[in-house]
Amino acid sequence: MDIVAEHRKMCTKCGMCMEVCPRYDDPDLIDNLYGYLENMSRISHKTLDLCLTCGLCAVACPQEAGGIKKLISASRKKRVKEHGINEKQTILDPEADNNIFKAIMDLRQVPEYKGGNAPVVYFPGCAGSYINTSMAQATVAILEEAGIDYTVLSGLEYCCGAASAGSGNMGPLMRNGPKNIEEISNRGAKTLITACPGCFRAFKDMYPKIFGTLDFEVLQISQYLDRLINQNNLVPKETLRHRVFYHDPCHMTRGMGVYREARNVIDNIPGTQLANKTPQNSACCGFGGGVRISYPDESLKIASDVFRAAKELDCDMIITNCAGCMQNLCEAKAEESIEVVDLAEYVALSIGVSVAREDRELTGLLNKVYSSCIPDYQEPGLLDK
Ligand code: SF4
Ligand code: SF4
Repeated sequence: MDIVAEHRKMCTKCGMCMEVCPRYDDPDLIDNLYGYLENMSRISHKTLDLCLTCGLCAVACPQEAGGIKKLISASRKKRVKEHGINEKQTILDPEADNNIFKAIMDLRQVPEYKGGNAPVVYFPGCAGSYINTSMAQATVAILEEAGIDYTVLSGLEYCCGAASAGSGNMGPLMRNGPKNIEEISNRGAKTLITACPGCFRAFKDMYPKIFGTLDFEVLQISQYLDRLINQNNLVPKETLRHRVFYHDPCHMTRGMGVYREARNVIDNIPGTQLANKTPQNSACCGFGGGVRISYPDESLKIASDVFRAAKELDCDMIITNCAGCMQNLCEAKAEESIEVVDLAEYVALSIGVSVAREDRELTGLLNKVYSSCIPDYQEPGLLDK
């Protein structure tokens, strides 16, 4: 059954998806998407670009029809087939001239890591390799402290392709998937650890469906850290007195159903109090689905709501577990009194390792890179606040 027929069969038009959606407020949207997917009517690029791919609608859907997101994802793919790939969709494509990571490499020295063969392969992804490098450096420090025999597969040549796929461009995922699987297997991997939820989803869910079963296990860093602590291979010793708000990355919590492990890790840090024990009411950071690029101000406004939620729970720190969330939260930092830290950085602090961060400089650099790679890019006004 095709996507529209299946959705039509399940959907009762109850409107619950629209109620939770932070981006759409159009009761006719589902019918309009059906029409577009069935070649009966048109839909604007603007409408398709609004979606954050946060998955709130899919989780809210009582019929498990996939909410609005399922139809938006199919529509984005259809648009690529009809109109080709635009410059906003190629900024993450390793083969494109306007790839943002190539531009970053021209402006910034990025860390290099240990290569070779090992049973544990750490995969920082493009964001961890070029943007949120402190997250990757913290992880490597933890692996060293725990005495793990590891190797790192970093850099643009190994881009997992998940972020491009989210915008409707399946090219990088289809080209790099088989190459990545072969390289990881050749390195003798028993376990692959990914930094970002997007890479996690690519290896755990998309690659096996498209390319077949992998011969290594796939864990996201929160799951691996939880395992290291449970098995006593890592002992957080430093007392870190913070009341923490854990920001659930959409693609991890709603996308992959993984949210307990990060909380277990935070609960194991001496002196740390976790304020939100479950992902109930968790909201999107505003980064995903290409919204940060197409609607920078709206994207950062959504991120600033996360600070409000943290303040309401009297927290002095937000911990997250995704380079995209990290980027948006740092850029939107609305409360000077609330720090934003990556989960791996926090665990590194608990073993006495502090990795330097340059959030303000990075925000400036990223806007410069977006401006040079996307012709009509508008820097967000919030940046000047
Ligand atoms: S994925 Fe998020 S932004 Fe997109 S339609 Fe669903 S709730 Fe709205
Ligand atoms: S929540 Fe599900 S059943 Fe209700 S309108 Fe949305 S897609 Fe249809």
